[in-house]
Amino acid sequence: MPKLDNETDLEYKRRVIDIKSESFCGAKWYNATIWLGSGQTTSCHHPLPHQIDRELIKTNPSAIHNTPQKKEQRRQMQAGERPKGCEYCWKIEDMGTDKISDRVDKTRMYTDKELDEAYATPYTEDFNLRTLEISFDRTCQLACSYCNPAFSSSWVRDIKRHGAYNGLASDGRNHFTHPHDSSQLFTIHDDNPYIEAFFKWWETDLHKTLTELRITGGEPLMSGYTWQLFDWFKTNRGQSKTRIAVNSNLAFDRDKIDRLLEAAEDVELDIYTSCEATYAHAEYIRDGLDYDQWLANVIYLLDSKKLRGLHVMCTVNALCLIRLPYLLKKIAELKQEYGQDAINFTLNILRFPSFQSPLVLDKQFRQAQANRLDIFKENYGELLHEFERNHIERLVDYLNIVETPHSEAFEMPKLLNDFKQFYKQYDERRNKNFTETFPELEEWYKQI
Ligand code: SF4
Repeated sequence: MPKLDNETDLEYKRRVIDIKSESFCGAKWYNATIWLGSGQTTSCHHPLPHQIDRELIKTNPSAIHNTPQKKEQRRQMQAGERPKGCEYCWKIEDMGTDKISDRVDKTRMYTDKELDEAYATPYTEDFNLRTLEISFDRTCQLACSYCNPAFSSSWVRDIKRHGAYNGLASDGRNHFTHPHDSSQLFTIHDDNPYIEAFFKWWETDLHKTLTELRITGGEPLMSGYTWQLFDWFKTNRGQSKTRIAVNSNLAFDRDKIDRLLEAAEDVELDIYTSCEATYAHAEYIRDGLDYDQWLANVIYLLDSKKLRGLHVMCTVNALCLIRLPYLLKKIAELKQEYGQDAINFTLNILRFPSFQSPLVLDKQFRQAQANRLDIFKENYGELLHEFERNHIERLVDYLNIVETPHSEAFEMPKLLNDFKQFYKQYDERRNKNFTETFPELEEWYKQI
């Protein structure tokens, strides 16, 4: 909406952003990600998170977003200075004055009036959010291979029971060596001051200003706070226009799905669910998943027609490529049955942990999978949205061309070593069998 008809990104940037300052970005005022389990936040999601001050939120619950750090970054942006944490954007912009970084996308989500107000208001003032992503805690019944204990209590159990994964040379971030206790400072029996502050702010102001609240986890449907929020909508029907989006693995019995649909009576609800393969392959990657149950829940939600949207997020990793076209075909068939907008997908290429990237695979194998995706696009492209076709094209290029998973990635022998080391231990701990599940990769796997 805030972009004028036919206005290019560059024209928008000049008209709305550049007249304010060389580094202005609306996300610093109106967007946040907040991890309430660890009391950390960042705006937008690119800069590293920082700790929220527990003293400040006692008197000002909005300080879970309006932290002294963000206020200093707002000052810098008003003065045309570049906050250090926003390197993600500065790197792109330093490639040329016409280069468009995320700053443009993340700013034009807000109205020109909101942006003028952010720029003109003293940086010391508090702002109410428009878009927010929160995680209440890391409780999750699954322990997917590409996740880690910071985001899943099932992963914590794996590490506590069996100890660190051994012999990983490329896991510089130590994802698989300790239980990440700093990600969850409170048990379910403790009072969590960050969650208390969130609900206080929600009840006084946030429910009036937020356009979208996205709940991630852990698994949000396992958190009592998600249901507390849905209850608020029930008892305060019509009081808030905030759309809710929930990232859910949908690995639940029908009772829970029915409860979710009941909640959808009182709120506009989008569900974002993760899956990137089918049957045994999906269940190997996403440990704890029952693919049949997941698919049945997806169809049940579509049948209900109570959701605003259902989005399948595919985390493209080395092990999903064989069955990914089958999953996409299923989604295309569901589009045919329920409508093009009823369900859609995104293909998000995994970068970390690097040894699970599709790029560890043999080049010929990767190219063969890229061809299969091309064939899928040719056969089903008409049923897809443009962004879905673009995601396929991007992945096909990635599989065909890119050689290393990301710029700081360790060299390939280390990634291959880690792939083998990790899945050997994963098989033992999770009672799985790599070569039986992926016979297509058996020969390659054995010679690593
Ligand atoms: S400048 Fe870039 S990294 Fe910083 S908040 Fe905006 S979009 Fe995020």
